[in-house]
Formats: sequence, structure tokens, C-alpha cells
Amino acid sequence: MTHALPAADPASAWRSVKDRMAAAARAAGRRAEDVALVAVSKQQPWDAIEPVLHAGQRVFGENRVQEALARWGGPRSALPDLELRLIGPLQTNKADDALALFDVIETLDRPGLATALAKAIQKAGKAPRLYVQVNTGEEPQKAGVAPAEADAFIAAARRDHGFEIEGLMCIPPAAEPPGPHFALLAKIAARNGVTRLSMGMSGDFETAIRFGATSVRVGSAVFGDRLTG
Ligand SMILES: *Cc1c(COP(=O)(O)O)cnc(C)c1O
Repeated sequence: MTHALPAADPASAWRSVKDRMAAAARAAGRRAEDVALVAVSKQQPWDAIEPVLHAGQRVFGENRVQEALARWGGPRSALPDLELRLIGPLQTNKADDALALFDVIETLDRPGLATALAKAIQKAGKAPRLYVQVNTGEEPQKAGVAPAEADAFIAAARRDHGFEIEGLMCIPPAAEPPGPHFALLAKIAARNGVTRLSMGMSGDFETAIRFGATSVRVGSAVFGDRLTG
């Protein structure tokens, strides 16, 4: 498949996701405005993204630096309130490019990347907001620090680079109930004095909100199927 159809009406799909988020927040005794929607626009045609932008969405997630630059490099100059978040793995040699484009990097997950980002930040004279990705399921193929190493990693990032860690991020194993993974991320955040949690995707964002997500990363439920290969 080289062409996927956008959701029949991405703006109404977006509204329905926002409504479901608000209902999940209220059901958990939380305020709707305390949970942000990161609309994951990776591999989406502009035809699907534009109606969602028009509807008022301003925070978008992307998982590849070059792809994100191609999509947002132009539109971003006309959208002063746009917020772009990197939610995919970052190679150290792309740290400068990532810093130039992204307001938030959610995938800090190793000492070498922390060092590369610190250098890039010094060079650029501006710092992105940072999340540490935790591999809660300890899956070998997945990025993220191991849960047992998270405390030391966060402490080192603060001490060695002066980073302010805004939040933690996780992607639970696809084949497991996500609740225990969300609970684990919340626990690691609490004991490290980290207040934001990026967790929950199209299939489980309501569960994530119940476990304390402060932002959810939702792609296909808003935009429809992604373009592939
Ligand atoms: C693609 C992606 C998402 C969105 O996935 P959907 O199931 O389409 O909502 C969320 N988080 C990350 C890290 C992703 O790569």
C-alpha cells in the first residue's frame, strides 16, 4: 500500500478523541484540561493533518527527524503556537537537527544521547523540554532505560547536564494489558519528583488517563490509517 485514505473526517475524529479524553479524565476524578493530546502525524498525508490543524490542534508528535522536517519545516513558520514533539528514537548525530525542529524530545534514553543533547543545546543556545523514555516491558527491541536503571539515569541527567526532566514516557508491550506498565511509569516518576507522564496511544489512552497520563499520543484514532512502505 502506498496510499492510505485519511479518516473520513479527521476533524470529527479529533473531536471524538478529545471528548473521550475528557470523559476518561472526569471518570478518574481529574480535570480534562490536565491531559494534553499529542496528535501523532507520522506517515500521515497533509490532507489528513490540515483539518485537524484547522480544528485547533497545535501539539503534534513525530517519530523521525527528517520526515518531521519535511512535513513541518514549511508550515511551522506560519504557526507560531505549534508544538512539535519527538516521540521516536534519536540518533546522536541527529541531535542538532532535532533541536532545531522539536520543542519537546520524549525519548532521552541513554547517557550518550544526553551528552550529545547537552552539546547541541550549548551550540544552539536553546533547550527542548525533555522526557526520559522507560522501557517498562524490558523488551530487547525497544528503546528506553530499564526500570531498574531509571532512578540513576534521571539523577545523572540532572547532575551531569543540569537537565530539567519534564516527564517520563513509555510504550507498553503490544501483547500485554497496559495498566501495570502505566502504573510502573507513574511510580518511577513519583519517586523521582517528575510530574508529567506521556503514555497511552489510540488503543489505550483512556486507560492511561486513569493511571495519571498528563499527555496521550494518539495517531490512527485521529487521522486514520498511516501511509506505509
Ligand atoms: C505511532 C506512535 C504513536 C501513535 O500510535 P497510534 O496507535 O496510531 O495512536 C504513539 N506513540 C509512539 C511512540 C508512536 O511511535
